[in-house]
Amino acid sequence: MTESQARPKEVRTRFAPSPTGSLHLGNIRIAVFNWLFARHHGGRFVLRVEDTDVVRNQPKAEAAIMDDLRWLGLEWDEGPDLGGEYGPYRQGEAAPLHRESAMELVQSGHAFRCYCTEEELAQEAEATESGLTVHRYSGRCRALGKEERDRLDAEGVPWSVRFRVDPGEIAVRDAIRGDVSFDGADFGDFVILRPDGRATYNFAVVVDDIRMRISHVIRGVGHLSNTPKQGLLFDALGVDRPTFAHLPTVLGPDRKKLSKREGAAAIEELRKEGYHPDAILNYTSLLGWSSVSEEEVLAREELIREMDLERVGASDTIFDPAKMRWLSGQHIARMELEELVRQVAPRIDRDRYPVPDERLTYAVEAVRTRISTFGEINVHFALLYPEPNPEFDRTRRDLASDPDGRRVLESARRALDGLAQWDSSAIMQTIRAVGKEIDARGPRLFHPIRIAVSGETSGPDLGKVLQAIGREETIERITDSLALRSD
Ligand code: GLU
Repeated sequence: MTESQARPKEVRTRFAPSPTGSLHLGNIRIAVFNWLFARHHGGRFVLRVEDTDVVRNQPKAEAAIMDDLRWLGLEWDEGPDLGGEYGPYRQGEAAPLHRESAMELVQSGHAFRCYCTEEELAQEAEATESGLTVHRYSGRCRALGKEERDRLDAEGVPWSVRFRVDPGEIAVRDAIRGDVSFDGADFGDFVILRPDGRATYNFAVVVDDIRMRISHVIRGVGHLSNTPKQGLLFDALGVDRPTFAHLPTVLGPDRKKLSKREGAAAIEELRKEGYHPDAILNYTSLLGWSSVSEEEVLAREELIREMDLERVGASDTIFDPAKMRWLSGQHIARMELEELVRQVAPRIDRDRYPVPDERLTYAVEAVRTRISTFGEINVHFALLYPEPNPEFDRTRRDLASDPDGRRVLESARRALDGLAQWDSSAIMQTIRAVGKEIDARGPRLFHPIRIAVSGETSGPDLGKVLQAIGREETIERITDSLALRSD
């Protein structure tokens, strides 16, 4: 091992998405763990686009992935757009480097050229496995002599490069699972370079992880079965293996594979719904990990401070959409009011909820404790602007026919009309003063006013609601209610 190939001290993690579609919770979780781990250690987070599946690549996917990562605040230090010391950061552009490394392994005897055709391999598989689809290469071209190879080359027979795997134990150390053991006999000599000169996944990943000096490979447990092959490739290339950490599977609430509908929700959809990005960061970090304090609502800086692989569990985790929504509400509750207003303002249905700009902040303040996504703003604005419906009319009519209720409304209307400053605390003081005057308190005082303005006996803070809808609207609703007397 040369000095430059020695394992770096610096923590370097990578997120290596294939640009074949949009990011969803499952793969964003991988990015989150890698990002938090790198930030925790003051290391570097690398974005590598694994664009080698030319058939499945989507032209816009790379940009969309970057956009989602930015929305989540998962900024990368090196990547296809930023460049960096260890580029190229698009796997496809590194094809010559992959070929070079493959030929290096042929030179060192760790790999060999295989001239077998698809048909030959298929026949072989049938002969040995009697119909089983598990193809294990027989090792046929391992022993080809130079003469034979020259003859096949002269005939122009295409070849792939296979990596030698002898039967016997292959041990893999995983930071989460401990030592895991595999048998080389289950793999056989596997292809690292295809006849068209493209590297296979396992090989491209290893060459790229080496050239990008990746210190920790944190990914889904689905890749655990690839790790023995990758470990052997690191060994053969003379480079220390990185630390592998395989995160547990995320299952749907039904304990089955996460479906599109439930949890494979595209990040794009969560953005549209108006989830707080920090809540998505927070929620996905809890899929397999917990903080020392067991605290669940964690801000970005707290997550960075606390993230550590030792507290990642190996058993499956369950995606809980309700908890994700709840966390979003928790993060929204911690926002500065102005910032919240800025986020929800473009989402408000102004035709239905004609809140004037100068009262927008009050309106948002009145309902903020109920909001779990920015998109829910309209649901809660319905509390401020109730649509006429039979129930609404009925409760208000009952109220208007009740002498005590009428007394409250009439006195409150008079007092509120004369109020110098229309703010929630002055409004509440006034209402309480009215209560003293007419000897009404608690529900007997507040219910009539609530019902008059909203048709309900409960709801957001009454002072804030009245401040939000404004004096004119408040007086008008009280007047309308009083006019509903049925006798
Ligand atoms: N492109 C691979 C994937 O999407 C990355 C695999 C890895 O992390 O090694 O799963």
